[in-house]
Amino acid sequence: MKLDNSRPIIGSNAERTKDHNRKAVLGLVKHHQPVGRAELARLSGLSTQAVSNIISELESTGYLVEAGRKIVGRGLPSIQYTLKRDGGYGLGIEIRPNAMFAALTNLAGEPCYSKRVSISDCSPKNASKIAAQLMDDALAHTGIKHDQLLGAGVVLPGPFGDVGLSGVGDTTLTGWDDTNPKKLFAEALNLPIIVENDATAAALAENVGGEAKFLHSYCFVYFGTGLGLGIVVDGKAVRGANGNAGELGHIVVQPGGKPCACGNLGCLETYVSRLSVKAHMALFGITVGNVDDLEKLFNDKHPALMDWLSAAVNPLAQGISMIENLFDPQTIIIGGAMPDSILEYLISSLSLTQASIANIKHRDIPRVQKGTSGRMTAAFGGAALIVHNAFTPGFAPNR
Ligand SMILES: [Zn+2]
Repeated sequence: MKLDNSRPIIGSNAERTKDHNRKAVLGLVKHHQPVGRAELARLSGLSTQAVSNIISELESTGYLVEAGRKIVGRGLPSIQYTLKRDGGYGLGIEIRPNAMFAALTNLAGEPCYSKRVSISDCSPKNASKIAAQLMDDALAHTGIKHDQLLGAGVVLPGPFGDVGLSGVGDTTLTGWDDTNPKKLFAEALNLPIIVENDATAAALAENVGGEAKFLHSYCFVYFGTGLGLGIVVDGKAVRGANGNAGELGHIVVQPGGKPCACGNLGCLETYVSRLSVKAHMALFGITVGNVDDLEKLFNDKHPALMDWLSAAVNPLAQGISMIENLFDPQTIIIGGAMPDSILEYLISSLSLTQASIANIKHRDIPRVQKGTSGRMTAAFGGAALIVHNAFTPGFAPNR
């Protein structure tokens, strides 16, 4: 697919500055609520007048509400403000080769709705049509109006663009080479669109409502169909030049190892992924369709699944060690389309090397922990992107 990679020139364009300040104030309210104008001016470095103007605007658009008064010093009690949870909603749409997902979250990042549909045709034309149906269903079901949607975060499996890994195997969308997804979905949904890869969306979802709420630098190992990596450093997602940073599944952990659809031997994805477990279980005549199938096999301690898990643990530990040494994250979160029980088993079985920069004394966060699991993770990530973008200046990717 074709991405719009043009980068706007950053300057003191008045509208851009206004948008930046509006997001900054909203973000401060979110973190310090209930909070008054003087405090917001102090926290933001803006003048009290500028903060007052922004607050009036945010009140009229329904993002903020008054929440009583507080006596500060000897002056008049100051009006306090809080976020209006239902002041706006983010829509997440995730497209996988064989399924599509829709999710809604409110301004506080709380999930309000989710739906999955199976698809047999993941072409841009069909996917955009189904996305519009999913949006209509979500609005009809919740009673939320279209103009309350702040935008849609469209989540796609990477890699983006015409690169060496495009169209490889069962993990990528076929027929998207000449498509600009941002334009396609903006027209289909009539909303501002943010396009993100699934692992990065999952990582950002953790930041809005999950394990990473108070973290600034962390990575998310994401079980989609393949294995992706969402990278957040100093509060910003690391996307790379073409939005493809974090193709964890195709790093080689076993030179000369199992053949991968990408043409290399011994890629991590051939040992640790949904694709890998599916192929392994097929050797024993067992079809793994979804997360529930895996959960049942794990509860039954099916020997073939337990064998796959024991073989997956060491390659995963190698991947973890590489991520630690490359990015120095506060923690690595593992989640996505795997049952909790399997994620917990993998994490507790990991034998992490002591020779890692993550092996520091007095750690207060584990090196590896379980994140939000389940097949809706990335779709909620898409919705979280939209909500996060409302609070964070310079957050949305330029594509
Ligand atoms: Zn590969």
